[in-house]
Amino acid sequence: MSDRGPFGDLRDRLSSFRTRLRLFFLLIVIVPMVAVTLVVFKLIAESEQGQADARVAGRQEAAISLYYNARSRADRIAAQIGRDPGLASALRAGDDAAVQRAVVRLRASTRADRIVLERSGTVLAQAGDPGASFPARRTLVADGRTVADLEVSVQDAATYATLVRRVTRLETLVLRNDRIIASTIPAPGSPRLPPSGASGKVEVGGQEFQAASFAAPGFGSERVQVTVLEPHAQTASAIRRGRLKAGVVLAGFFLLALVSALVVSRSLNRQIEEFLAAARRLGAGDFSARAPTRGRDQFAQLGGEFNNMAAELDGRLRELAQERLRLELSLRRIGETFASSLDRDGLLEIVVRTAVDAVDAVGGHALAQREIDGDLVPVAGVGDGSLPAAVAEAEREVLATGQPSLAEVDGGHALAHPLRAGPAAGERADVVTGLISVWRPERAFTHRERELFHYLAGQAAVSVENVGLHETVERQAVTDELTGLSNRRRFQETMSAEVERSKRFGQELGLVMLDIDDFKAVNDSYGHQQGDLVLREVARILRASSREIDEPARYGGEELAVILPGTGLPGAYELAERVREGIEALRLPIVGDPGAEPLQITASFGAAALPTSADSVRGLVAAADEALYQAKRAGKNQTVRAP
Ligand code: GH3
Ligand code: MG
Ligand code: MG
Repeated sequence: MSDRGPFGDLRDRLSSFRTRLRLFFLLIVIVPMVAVTLVVFKLIAESEQGQADARVAGRQEAAISLYYNARSRADRIAAQIGRDPGLASALRAGDDAAVQRAVVRLRASTRADRIVLERSGTVLAQAGDPGASFPARRTLVADGRTVADLEVSVQDAATYATLVRRVTRLETLVLRNDRIIASTIPAPGSPRLPPSGASGKVEVGGQEFQAASFAAPGFGSERVQVTVLEPHAQTASAIRRGRLKAGVVLAGFFLLALVSALVVSRSLNRQIEEFLAAARRLGAGDFSARAPTRGRDQFAQLGGEFNNMAAELDGRLRELAQERLRLELSLRRIGETFASSLDRDGLLEIVVRTAVDAVDAVGGHALAQREIDGDLVPVAGVGDGSLPAAVAEAEREVLATGQPSLAEVDGGHALAHPLRAGPAAGERADVVTGLISVWRPERAFTHRERELFHYLAGQAAVSVENVGLHETVERQAVTDELTGLSNRRRFQETMSAEVERSKRFGQELGLVMLDIDDFKAVNDSYGHQQGDLVLREVARILRASSREIDEPARYGGEELAVILPGTGLPGAYELAERVREGIEALRLPIVGDPGAEPLQITASFGAAALPTSADSVRGLVAAADEALYQAKRAGKNQTVRAP
């Protein structure tokens, strides 16, 4: 990251979910909050200003009514003066001094503040306080013509201002011809007051005020204006108070929004952390990891999908493990097959099991001939043994064509593969000597399964052929080619095993040895071929006289022997005599001369048995040999029992 520099770092941090969430809250909470605060503060200021205006306007009304009060009192006094006969006669007489006297008298009697009499703009007489103001006017008429204009005032400007101040608690200025004549503010200076009928902010005596003015007519042509003033500090502190209240409420809202944003961001973050933790566990191979699915929102849905995915993965993994187990089992079986590959039935058993597992069949079996050209009989099988019709159908086809086949009958599916005799059988190599089949209901075998089955069965067929080959070689290794009897090696092996066994189990073991009499002469007279024929015929009789468990063998040259497990000396002697008589009874044709007199031969026998004659292989053979020698010496064609 360091190679991307500080801006890359910043970009990373900005793109983090938490940061973006916080930026988002900042945008939707703080920005509108600031805007609302500005608007509210402005509204509060305007509203307080408006209220101040209204308040001043309202109190101005009080000031105006106080003015009218003074006017109407002055009006009543003016009417009283107008009816005064003394003044009327003085005016009529045109006596200015009398008029003046009358005016002075009337002011005193009516307690007016000031009385002025004018005619055509010229003052006739006057009395009282020159500071008095707000006069009432009246025209005095005598004999139908105007004789004078009367103006009466009952109040001076300073008194009025004080009164207004007391009633309205507003500072009051009274101006005459734009000059301040009364003020409740000490040292007001000469401020720029709003004109009559207007209102506004002014500075008086170094202090801010909200002011409103109205015109109040004065004496003669003089202009009188009253201005009432409310200190602006009052409005400002009201605005401050309003803003403080609004600020507290807004701050409360802001705090609430901040707290809820924090709570929401925390819970979102927690959910995401939980998802991350589950994903990490899944990534580490723990498929039991589950994401939270609380509620019904998209997070819950995401959690559900995540869990489905984990379960699916888990299932797949289990399947894989099972598949692996099956593979392992198959490998073991194949290994066992190698080990037991010289046992045809064992091999077929393993191949059938492996094939059934490998292609997911419900059953399988192997059929084989027990003897050359014999019927096919079951030699290995897996499953419950109930064969669907498809199996018979597939096997019929294999036998008819010699080729692998498959069949489907009534929803049952079967695969069959032939087994052959193999090269060891020579001309019969291609004869079908067995088959392997597998089957299952409902589901047809896939191409892959068919291939796998035929591969396995094909390998098994090769193995079975090898078993045949091996059996042939093995047989050849222990068999005498001329007579078909066991050879000397096999004779020795069997002797050792049987002596061992009879000793262990305390059983008897008989041994008969025979030597053809005057055999050299047969060879000499009729040739080797005749000698071979004699050997073969003697061997045939020996074999025919032996039981299944006996072991007839060619001991060497024209000496034969037969091992007789579980047979004592009398039994051995009996068998020897039977064979001797059989040989004696033989009439053998002469090789190459069918018309000649048949050949008659005899043989001499020595019989011995364990444990009466000896207690070892060597001893038993020696005893039988010695008895045979005795028989020769005694004149041949007889049996001698070992002592
Ligand atoms: P005796 O009655 O004393 O046994 O006299 P004999 O002539 O049989 O004497 P001996 O047992 O010594 O003879 C062995 C002969 O058997 C010698 C050999 O030529 C012959 N022989 C051994 N093996 C074979 C064989 O495989 N084929 C043929 N044709 N002759 C064999
Ligand atoms: Mg001999
Ligand atoms: Mg002989």
